[in-house]
Amino acid sequence: MNFKPKYLIKMVLPLLVLLVSALVYLGYSDYRSIRESAYSQARANLNVAKGYLDLNYIAATNQLFLLSEILKGSGNIPAFLDAANYVVNNQNKFLEVGLLVDSDYYGTDGFRLSGIDERVKRRPWYSESQKIGDLFLSDFYHSNSTKKWCVALVKKLAIPGKKNVRIIIELDAGAMSDDLSDLKTMTKGYVYAIEPQTRRVVIHPDKARLGVDSVSINPELLTTIMAGNGNGNIPSYEYDNQYKFSVYDANNNFNWVLLSGTSNSEIASNALKVGAVGGTFLVVVFFILLAGYLHTRVHQVGGQLIEAQEFDELHEQLSALLNDTMGSSRVYLFVMNANEGVLEEAYHNLRVNVPADLLCRIAGCQQLGRFCKPEQDDIVRLIAPSEPCIRLPLVNSARQNDYQRPASQLIGVLYICQPGAAYPFFAKMIANYTLSALNQILLTQHIRSEDQMTGLKNKNSLRQHMDQKLMDSGAGYFLAMIDVDDFKSVNDTYGHLLGDEVILNIASLMKYSFPAQAVLCRYGGEEFAVLMEAPDTETALKALDDFRAKVEASRIDIDEDTSCAITVSIGVAPLHKGMESTISSADRALYQAKSQGKNQVLSAEMCSIGTETEAATA
Ligand code: GH3
Ligand code: MG
Ligand code: MG
Repeated sequence: MNFKPKYLIKMVLPLLVLLVSALVYLGYSDYRSIRESAYSQARANLNVAKGYLDLNYIAATNQLFLLSEILKGSGNIPAFLDAANYVVNNQNKFLEVGLLVDSDYYGTDGFRLSGIDERVKRRPWYSESQKIGDLFLSDFYHSNSTKKWCVALVKKLAIPGKKNVRIIIELDAGAMSDDLSDLKTMTKGYVYAIEPQTRRVVIHPDKARLGVDSVSINPELLTTIMAGNGNGNIPSYEYDNQYKFSVYDANNNFNWVLLSGTSNSEIASNALKVGAVGGTFLVVVFFILLAGYLHTRVHQVGGQLIEAQEFDELHEQLSALLNDTMGSSRVYLFVMNANEGVLEEAYHNLRVNVPADLLCRIAGCQQLGRFCKPEQDDIVRLIAPSEPCIRLPLVNSARQNDYQRPASQLIGVLYICQPGAAYPFFAKMIANYTLSALNQILLTQHIRSEDQMTGLKNKNSLRQHMDQKLMDSGAGYFLAMIDVDDFKSVNDTYGHLLGDEVILNIASLMKYSFPAQAVLCRYGGEEFAVLMEAPDTETALKALDDFRAKVEASRIDIDEDTSCAITVSIGVAPLHKGMESTISSADRALYQAKSQGKNQVLSAEMCSIGTETEAATA
């Protein structure tokens, strides 16, 4: 399947939305399940607390029963107090045991009061309506003698000869709170209890809060709780500037409302932690996979660029690559023509000057991924006057310590129109691949167009240059064919090695004699050609004759004493007649020069005049 990276890039946003939605959903379900477990933890704590309170209640009623049996059996108050002291000393939940007999009160702390008929009626543990055999549970109160918060369980009994006998056992709310303080819901939630009729706190891990009116459970909430079936949830109520949830249970022997819960924010922050870790992990994995895939894909496609043989092919492949990655298919690949100092774009047939700001930035740096504005760059003004465009200079950087090569060489510039948002991700890679591909093509072209022995252009290259000039009519250009005179005898006399030296000597004299713009060519064997610009035939003849004279004056050393002189014959013709006709005209002039005695330059015009004269004479 040929899946293009641009489609993946286009899918990034929807995929991210999907991922975030999945995370929100996961986060919410995490929140729900953490909330569920917080509720069940709170509920379990309540059950433990309820069981604990009931056990203490039952323990107190058992003690009351035993103590009443002792009193009834012996009728002896000191024996009763001994047993009561034993109970108080061995069980810290029981603060004090008291005995009321008519108007006398006996306490386990040695306290004794007589004649307190009226005073005793104001004690919280005293209920006028209590019947013999009944148990009475007092309201929560602060004990005068122990200075602690407690609740009393009172048993009224019948002793012969006594009217009012009651045994009182006080349960220590602080000690019970201590035992329940470890029941935590998550990390912050705790178990507490309130007395519904007074709304005072009766169990709380912070003992300073005992006996204080509950701040969290207000009267309305309490009414709701008491109206129900004794247990349930309060999903959200405000306390201490935060929202809490509680589960409650009022079904215990003390008839207290037991509560347990924690702040909702604790649940949310736990869910957030789980969600954030999972989410970050997912997003990181997603981006690593995406970047990895795109990278591999671009390298895969980019590698194919290097296989391009021609500029047109490179342009096609580059367009396809850009379309695949950035979604942009408008690309301009300018190649630097170093001879003329201009940028050429073969695909759209453009020829422009190198933008001034680019030239001054080339030294050692590449401006990558840079958006160009038309007012900054003449080329952008030409190719994309009203759309975004990035410019990627293709620069061969010099290797360090390589003094042979120039510092940095601009070999082309890539312009990408409407590059799309993903361009920073691809620009550098694409520029690198294009640079390699361009170097490859330039190298191949160089090898194909050059004569290996002399470094001059070859016949193919000469024809291409002629074609190019002929596209602009070819006016002002001349083709000269140069042939070494009697070269065969040089070979025969001095050997082929010296013959080679003669050829190299001619090539170097050509490079030295003609302007840089002239196309110097080894046509084949000992034949050379020059495509040169000249205002008229005379000027061309003059330049060629200067060259001929230089060849004539030059010497090839054979040994210390002998040297060899060489001459050339040259035929020249103007280019405007077309490729084949020009070559044959120049050839004819060369042939004429040979036949007229060699070592001379003749123009095609001179030959035709000569031919016409000969014809006229005949
Ligand atoms: P003319 O003055 O009429 O041009 O005579 P010529 O001897 O120069 O011409 P001819 O075509 O008879 O001989 C050309 C010779 O050039 C034949 C060939 O062996 C030799 N030759 C061609 N290429 C090379 C080369 O690369 N090196 C050497 N040493 N000789 C070459
Ligand atoms: Mg020849
Ligand atoms: Mg020759």
